[in-house]
Order: sequence, then C-alpha cells, then structure tokens
Amino acid sequence: MDVTEHVESVYAELRRRDPGESEFHQAAAEVLHDLEPALRKHPEYVDARIVERLCEPERQLVFRIPWTDDRGEVRVNRGFRVEFSSALGPYKGGLRFHPSVDLGTVKFLGFEQIFKNALTGMPLGGGKGGADFDPKGKSDGEIMRFCQSFMTELHRSLGEHTDVPAGDIGVGSREIGYLFGQYKRITNRHEAGTLTGKSVAWGGSHVRTEATGYGVVYFLQEMLATRGRSLEGQRVVVSGSGNVAIYAVEKASALGATVLACSDSVGYLVDEDGIDPELLKEIREVRGQRLPAYAEARPNARFVESGSVFDVPCDVALPCATQNELNREHALTLVKNEVFAVAEGANMPCTAEAIEAFREAGVLFGPGKAANAGGVATSALEMQQNASRETWTFERAEERLATIMRDVHARCRATAESYGGASHDYVFGANIAGFLRTADAMVAQGLV
Ligand code: NDP
Repeated sequence: MDVTEHVESVYAELRRRDPGESEFHQAAAEVLHDLEPALRKHPEYVDARIVERLCEPERQLVFRIPWTDDRGEVRVNRGFRVEFSSALGPYKGGLRFHPSVDLGTVKFLGFEQIFKNALTGMPLGGGKGGADFDPKGKSDGEIMRFCQSFMTELHRSLGEHTDVPAGDIGVGSREIGYLFGQYKRITNRHEAGTLTGKSVAWGGSHVRTEATGYGVVYFLQEMLATRGRSLEGQRVVVSGSGNVAIYAVEKASALGATVLACSDSVGYLVDEDGIDPELLKEIREVRGQRLPAYAEARPNARFVESGSVFDVPCDVALPCATQNELNREHALTLVKNEVFAVAEGANMPCTAEAIEAFREAGVLFGPGKAANAGGVATSALEMQQNASRETWTFERAEERLATIMRDVHARCRATAESYGGASHDYVFGANIAGFLRTADAMVAQGLV
C-alpha cells in the first residue's frame, strides 16, 4: 500500500466522519503529515492500520450535568471524556471547564495527549475531558455543586488503573478537591491515584502545581543550550496568566531572564522592570484579582487592552494561554522583532501557518506536546507516590521533572535525526517518537 495514499485516506475519512471538529482535524493533520518516514520503515504499522486506529478514540463519553445555582435555578451543562488510547497505560489527561469546550476541542486535546504522554517514557495512555461550564463569576458553592454533579456521572469510568484525570483551563486545586471528595463519597474508596493535581496536604505531589510552567522553561533551556545560549539576560514574553504562565514566569525569572509581559483574555500587562513573580502569584492566586491590579501596584507597569502580547519585542516567546492564540501575523511580528526561540506552554497555541513562519525564519520552536509535558510527567510522579504511599520532597520531585524534560528534549532530537530530519525539528521528532512508542505497544497487544 502506498504510504502517502494511506495517510491521506485516513485523514479524509476522519474529516468526513466528524466534519465539525476543526481543532481535532488541525491536531491530526499536524501529526499525520510527519508519520510517513516511520510508516515506510515499519510496514507492520500499516498492516495493523495503526494510524487509522489511533485516530479513533477507544471510547467517548458525552453526558448531562444538571446543577443548581445560588438562586435555586436549575442549570444544565454538557460534560465530555474522551478515552483515546490505553496502549501505554491508563487514560491520562486533564479536565477543562470553559464555555468554548465541545467534543472537537476535547478530541484534539486527547489526541495530542497520546503522543505527549508517550514522549515522557512513562506508563500513561491518553485522554482528555471537560465541560462547557464557565467558572468565571460563579460562587464557591456553585463550583462545588457543579463539580459534584460532573463526578456523579463520570466516576463510573474512572479508576487509578483505568482513567486518571487532572486539571486544565478552569480546573485547579479547588476543583480537583471537590471532584475527589465526590469520587470518594460515591465509591467509598480513598483511591488517591484516581485524580492528580491534588493538594499536597492530602495526596498531591510537590511540584505538580509548578510542573508545566517549570517544565517549559527547562525544555527551553535545553533548546537554547544547543545554540550556546542560556536564559541569562533574555527578554521573555509569556501569554496567559494562569497556572502554566505564572510558573513559566517564575522559573524564567529565577534563571536570569527578564519577563517583560504576560496576558489574559482581556489584554496584556507590560512591566519594563520585569514581571515580579511573587506579586503576580499574590494577585492571581491569593487575591483572585485580574492583571490591571498588578499594573496599579508597580511604577513601570501598564495594562494594554488592544493589540497582542506578541507585539512586545522579545528574544523568547512562551504562549501559555490557549489553542490558536498565536497566528501567522503574530509570528511575523515576532520574527520582525528578532525572536530567537518559541516554546509552547499551552496545547496547540500556534496555528500551522505561524509554525511555518517560524520554521522559514529559522526560529527555534518547541511544540507543546514536548515542551509542556512536564505537567503530565509530574502527574505520573504523583501516581507513583500514591501507589507507594510516599511523599517526596520538593527537591526530589523537581529533580525528577528536570531529568524528564532533558530526556524528552534529547528524545525529540535523536528521533528527528534518525528519521531523516534536522535535529532541531522538534515538531517532527516529537511526533515520530510519541508515535513509535504507542504503535509498538499496539502491535504487541493485538487487534484491540
Ligand atoms: P488556567 O485556567 O490556569 O489559565 C488560562 C489562562 O489563559 C488565563 O490567563 C486565561 O485568561 C487565558 N485564556 C484562556 N482561554 C483564553 C482564550 N480563549 N483567549 C485568551 N486567553 C485565554 O489554565 P492553564 O494555565 O492550566 O492552561 C493553559 C494552557 O496550558 C492550556 O492550553 C492547557 O491545555 C495547557 N496545559 C496545561 C497544563 C497544566 O498542567 N495546567 C498541562 C499541559 C498543558 P482569562 O483568565 O482571562 O480567561
């Protein structure tokens, strides 16, 4: 069978079957495009229809979430869990609560998760979930009742050996607490390894909160080192001001960079003196305020409501907010301003056209499925600690995270080279390396 025709027919079929899922099509196109050299080298993957099977989730759940708001009114949302692949371990991937969530979003995130999780070298399958619920402006009681209703339905699909969710946009440690509480109540089991991102006080791992943001910066450090550079003195721009963004700002600053800007869905914040990570954390995490409060507290900071955070000239850009937030126009502005490296903290934040623009300009580019793998890797460390009933120190967990990110970086480079690409083509390396590990397991496990 001709490999190019095979891949094209799989892609055409997934578009035909699920025409409304544009983000899933985008994520699949990016991976499938890179797989041909692996399929040529391993005809057994083609015979076993691995690509076709990987593009079809093992199971998809769509469910009703009824709950009552503070006025006693009944509200109804839609919940999702896509259990994409269990070839390498239990389904693993976060839950997103955001009004934009639909099945196509969850499928794109779950598909990316398969390759990311495989790339960590850990025993993790791929999945993702969430709901079209908007946590903004909701009271604590409303959030709790929503989480309880969500878990009342989802609990029957979960388990430490089956499916292990975590947080994502709109789901932080508060939501994980409510979800876990309800899981425990319904099942009558304190099965800590069923959810990750728990508070350290009751079964969580040190460094899980920081892991995705820190991991992106560790990955970036490795990328820069291949060009003889370090983070010292680099001007960095981060998008977002949530979990991933905050800890990317903190680690980049600790390693000597000046983080000039970050953002949210309303606008962006510039601090010419470098963003103070402690103040950013205090405002976002402790006081629950928005970025203008930071601008008011610092003499050389301002909040801008028009344009894009990527208009701010920088050496390094770290998109850490959401998918497709950085388009070709933003990429060309960054290139004009002589950006040197871009690493994705968010999932698929750069459009295909933006990535192409970076590639043409020779900008070092770290794709999310490699650069942001530190979060899920530390979730696996949390599962490991839960299974052995241990709690590691912060230092031990961070050391493991740093090693994992170095290994992910090395794996991308080595795989890209051995399949005929350039060693700095991290997109190609990550796609092939994640695919090979999953495909080998699928072949070994037979037609399931
Ligand atoms: P948070 O909810 O903590 O923060 C999200 C940030 O992105 C907020 O600043 C939010 O702004 C902004 N944002 C969200 N949606 C939009 C939008 N449509 N347009 C503009 N800005 C937006 O989420 P996380 O930091 O956890 O996640 C950020 C990204 O990182 C996501 O792509 C997620 O999938 C990815 N990721 C997260 C991991 C984790 O461990 N948390 C692991 C790996 C990847 P506002 O407050 O105004 O809405």
